[in-house]
Amino acid sequence: MPAIWDLPDFDSHEAVHLFEDRATGLKAVIAVHSTHLGPAAGGTRFWHYADSQSAITDALRLSRGMSYKNAMAGLSAGGGKAVILANPSRAKPAELLDAFARAVDSLGGKYITAQDVGMSEADMVHLSKTTAHVAGLPDQGGDPGPYTSRGVYLGVRAAAKHVFGTEDMQGVHVAIQGVGSVGGGLARYLAQQGAKLTLADVDAARAAALADELGGVSVAADAIMSVEADIFSPCALGAILTEDSVAGLNVKAVAGGANNQLAKGIEGRMLADRGILYAPDYVINAGGIINVLRHIDSADDVEINRRIDAIPGRLSEIWKESDASGSTPAEVADKMAQKLIGR
Ligand code: NAD
Repeated sequence: MPAIWDLPDFDSHEAVHLFEDRATGLKAVIAVHSTHLGPAAGGTRFWHYADSQSAITDALRLSRGMSYKNAMAGLSAGGGKAVILANPSRAKPAELLDAFARAVDSLGGKYITAQDVGMSEADMVHLSKTTAHVAGLPDQGGDPGPYTSRGVYLGVRAAAKHVFGTEDMQGVHVAIQGVGSVGGGLARYLAQQGAKLTLADVDAARAAALADELGGVSVAADAIMSVEADIFSPCALGAILTEDSVAGLNVKAVAGGANNQLAKGIEGRMLADRGILYAPDYVINAGGIINVLRHIDSADDVEINRRIDAIPGRLSEIWKESDASGSTPAEVADKMAQKLIGR
């Protein structure tokens, strides 16, 4: 395995901590990408990786993503990410979580953890018995989904304004992929404003029931990306914008809550070449993290709402700069984030 400095995803991370606790079998990585704006904050992923290099690569990539996301959300937080290397059985005994909590605590608040794939709310509460450096606990605002939905809704409206010149959503046709916590909430906001909805979910009954309730229609999950609509809103999986899927889009804008929508990154250029506006995912979907990190600077509900209300303005700034410079919105967002974190 190459040295960590030589891995393609190493980006002058401030620190990469490798932990092993033989007694409990804990193996974990905590990557601190940047503390320029505040403590490095980002979730803990509990995952079975093919090998330890894949785990380190994931921590490097995801921690940089958190630096960008937190910076663009205007938070006093840097970017970090932890991964716990699960064994094939994915057993997660309490002692292993305790050892991980001690690892987090040993960094003295330089890294603040939160929930991510493979970690439950109960796991986070468990960690908090050993370390104070846990964000997003049930008594600190709870489920981030509704906050993310609201930010995505405001972002979808901003996209409509940029493309059609008005943020009046009456009759604007939005195709939503995935109607879970984020997509379902978005659909409700849009329905209230008179938007025309086409919904899809791998759980077809879920999409059909919500479409019935809100007066929209539902289509099969594999048809949603070619629906003719004004805006496509991906709110399910990542990496859904590929060379093929972008070629098949029949919309004027892509604005949705899913993480890491661009499969390789180059799809941002393909969208621009097709004249499709793109809302960079980590900017539009920051509502959840804004709420999760509320305790970092003791933000109250009014301040949380103010920060979420700033999402459309940030997107407009990105699109204006993109129109002026010819760089794609994703490139502009990355550059803005890098500037904010002093890179
Ligand atoms: P969720 O599990 O509540 O909902 C996801 C929905 O997508 C489910 O109903 C699922 O059946 C459906 N789905 C899965 N694969 C699909 C496919 N191929 N086609 C259509 N539907 C599909 O999850 P969520 O919390 O709503 O998160 C959705 C996305 O938003 C994820 O990418 C997540 O990482 C991202 N995100 C969520 C938050 C948050 O606060 N929850 C914050 C930032 C980003």
